[in-house]
Amino acid sequence: MPEPIVFALEVAAADAPEPAGGWEATVRRVGPDEPIVLGTDLAATRGDGVFETLGVLDGYPQAVDAHFWRLANSAELLELPAPNLEQWRVAMKIAGAALPTDRQGGIKLVLSRGIEGANRPTGWLIATVADDDFSNRTEGWKVVTLDRGYRHDLSEHAPWLLPGAKTLSYAVNMATLREAARRGADNAIYVSSDGYVMEAPQSSVLLRRGNTLVTPKTDIGILPGTTQLSAFALAQQWGFDTEDRLVTVDELRDSDGVWLLSSVKLASPITEVDGHPIAVDREFSDRLNAGLLARRE
Ligand code: PLP
Repeated sequence: MPEPIVFALEVAAADAPEPAGGWEATVRRVGPDEPIVLGTDLAATRGDGVFETLGVLDGYPQAVDAHFWRLANSAELLELPAPNLEQWRVAMKIAGAALPTDRQGGIKLVLSRGIEGANRPTGWLIATVADDDFSNRTEGWKVVTLDRGYRHDLSEHAPWLLPGAKTLSYAVNMATLREAARRGADNAIYVSSDGYVMEAPQSSVLLRRGNTLVTPKTDIGILPGTTQLSAFALAQQWGFDTEDRLVTVDELRDSDGVWLLSSVKLASPITEVDGHPIAVDREFSDRLNAGLLARRE
């Protein structure tokens, strides 16, 4: 598999004018062994920063506006200086252009609070070719539900826990995937301590109930998913109703189909929840993945 390609960014303030050499001059491709992050960077020592991962199809980064909205929103929630989205857009294009056009891939954008005491954010991008195993889109995944340990109304009661921000602190999400594997599953779906379906460690949850597609509403301490937004837009074109609302675990089990959605893996049908087989709607899975793959922006 090709090595990831890293680009260092001289992070500009949101209101900074474009430099004489263009934003391109602020993006530098880094050699494969060249270090660019200091040991004192708060991304490294505290996971204090935010990130985005965009899917890239045939050379086109997907759902760019939705990802940039979420990047800016995450930065605001962490009280980081607002990102200069024009600069990030140029940097993302440069990173995307480094990927082969005939393979699926991803671009990760990282914005850190920066070196401790320096009061200046640091940023970099990583362009990666995805591995070619997209069997998740057809074979699907077994999931277990796991307690997230907080109620669905976390955003109202404890906003300092940063619900809705895509922070660099993903150790808990990775530990959740290891726990799922220990329990013989491929992935996990978090459930709030008061019993509502939330999200998976790296994806959003989608259910089909008859002619209605349902996703957990996003003010319950979960990330607004960009793939879920695209899925709803497609489903509306196809004549489905769509709902963002509270979802119970019982509803997961007796849905006409459940999927995990994310930017690079796209739609993975769920075949089992907590050891109970659930309905798999292959036709809708294939249609949804084809629709997501056909996006050109
Ligand atoms: N929820 C979490 C916790 C995630 O980490 C992700 C993506 O990484 C998602 C949902 C899905 O977001 P997207 O569809 O924008 O990739």
